[in-house]
Amino acid sequence: MRFTVSRVTVRKSTYRSIASLQRDTSRCRACVEAGYQIESLPVRAPFAGQQAYMFGQAPGIVEGQERLPWRGRAGQKLRRWLELDEEAFYSTFYCASVTRCYPGRMPSGRGDRAPTPREQDLCEFWRDWELELLRPRLIVTVGGLALRRMLGLTELTAAIGERFEREGVPVVPLPHPSGASSWPHAPGNRERLERALELVHAELAGLAARS
Ligand code: SF4
Repeated sequence: MRFTVSRVTVRKSTYRSIASLQRDTSRCRACVEAGYQIESLPVRAPFAGQQAYMFGQAPGIVEGQERLPWRGRAGQKLRRWLELDEEAFYSTFYCASVTRCYPGRMPSGRGDRAPTPREQDLCEFWRDWELELLRPRLIVTVGGLALRRMLGLTELTAAIGERFEREGVPVVPLPHPSGASSWPHAPGNRERLERALELVHAELAGLAARS
């Protein structure tokens, strides 16, 4: 899908409600206006009072078409890891990502293009306002890029199985569930992943007990 450049992106200096923020996020074309080729409109995460914030890399082609997060095979695997069905997954996590539009394939055709640093910067506006308005009580990052953008950490393997904090909010990193990733098959990584999933479950149990 191609988009022509027309100035439609609205970014207010302040937002008072998630509904208002989502309205502007869902029509954002900042990357197109900056000259980047993206292949979908922004994916929108329905907000239903979730207390946990999931932060991935970027939508895939299926998510871009449906404009909903984690709809493809990676999402199915993530739910299997977490032992959550779709209903429990979406009611537990408000799902966001470093960028929110499908970036398209790499020129080589091997996999999806990683969003450029400029696109990541442009999209961070929406993440920062979401965190401000939602005030999540748990953040789960998915994949190396999300970890870097959320915590500034560059060593994914060292971070998996550990618990961090960002402005007092617990952050648990997970690896990316993409089938193209060889990370889970490297020695010791299955155990790291299991530790990370135990941490997520412990945090979710704590949230449930406090609400
Ligand atoms: S990736 Fe983010 S900043 Fe870029 S157009 Fe989509 S919503 Fe806007």
